Amino acid sequence: MSSEVNPELLLNLKEFGVEDAATCFNCGNCTAVCSLSSEATPFPRKVIRYLQLGLKDKLVASPEPWLCYYCGDCSETCPRQANPGEVMMGLRRYLTSMYDWTGISRLFYTSKVFEVTAILLVAALVGLGFYFFHGPMLTDRVALNVFAPNTTIEILDLIMLAVLSFFLLTNAYRMFKAVMGDPDQYPALSFAEKQQVQNRLLRGVPLAIYIREAKEFVLQFFTQKKFAACGTRSQNIQWINHLLIMTGYSIVFALVVIGIRWFQRDEIYPLWHPIRVLGYYATFAILYGTTIAIWGRIKKSKTVYEHSHSSDWAFLILLWLTTFTGILIHVGRLLELPLTTYAIYVIHMMIAVPMLVIEVPFAKWTHQLYRPLVLYLMKVKQRALQGV
Ligand code: SF4
Ligand code: SF4
Repeated sequence: MSSEVNPELLLNLKEFGVEDAATCFNCGNCTAVCSLSSEATPFPRKVIRYLQLGLKDKLVASPEPWLCYYCGDCSETCPRQANPGEVMMGLRRYLTSMYDWTGISRLFYTSKVFEVTAILLVAALVGLGFYFFHGPMLTDRVALNVFAPNTTIEILDLIMLAVLSFFLLTNAYRMFKAVMGDPDQYPALSFAEKQQVQNRLLRGVPLAIYIREAKEFVLQFFTQKKFAACGTRSQNIQWINHLLIMTGYSIVFALVVIGIRWFQRDEIYPLWHPIRVLGYYATFAILYGTTIAIWGRIKKSKTVYEHSHSSDWAFLILLWLTTFTGILIHVGRLLELPLTTYAIYVIHMMIAVPMLVIEVPFAKWTHQLYRPLVLYLMKVKQRALQGV
């Protein structure tokens, strides 16, 4: 079970924000302090060793980078300032680009010019779409559904959902193949047993195990519960913040992409209507969570905020602006300002659409899928290997 050595690996990873890994001398301190590391999946030392040795195949098959929630404990205790927490973060960017068969993730993470151009290009296309195809602009009242009929937006949303799902799921399948085929996570096994394990993991896991363990995926996807296991008060606050963004984002995504005909209506719902309450919760959750994260990065108030990649900024800023312009639309409707509301609506869409079509399948949002997926696959593996 030999592995090809790639001497350029450490250099390549610098493009993804892995800066200080070369200084690591493998003392193992980071693995000892990490409360999420375990005997079966020890990290971060093991994956840092892989990248120092140029073992790209092993790195791509490693689930560990997705098991780290970037609390920063390991970086604070590293005697060599190798910043293992940030190395894990950079590895997640790298792995995202390795799973993505289109190559867009790689360009997005390694070229600021591409990142900015892609966002501006999609925004410009949305703006042009509204310029040429918007409906009548009634001025005696705010009539968003005349300006941009929700039935048309719904069709476009569903097309977008199908395209995003295609990219996201095909990339997730590549991750699944990579992660499920690594028997080196079981060092106690002999060579022959490892081969047997590999065959079994990829081809022989009974469907019943996947179904039985699916609850793990659902639980981790919606709660990010593992994050809370990091332990300290500061980490719990970070988890709550993460949870607010995640739940707010999921609610808005469901309301806008699937439930647009109930969400975008010209009559304003009563204050306690469930859709209005959900909208207010999602707005508060995203705005609060992203403001805290942006402010922390500006102030560099925690170890985890010290090194921000441009893609982290792009996601947070787009999400913050999408939410803020969403609030302005609501205010425009409440104040009955038709033209102002239509103009803000177009700006809102020019921010929201790039955030969805770039971030969801190719960039930061993918973490929301890959993390719970890896935790789920770890459980499936554990069950499947019982009896080997
Ligand atoms: S990253 Fe730091 S703490 Fe971890 S093994 Fe390397 S030198 Fe030790
Ligand atoms: S950042 Fe936290 S969770 Fe991630 S490896 Fe370091 S100690 Fe573990």
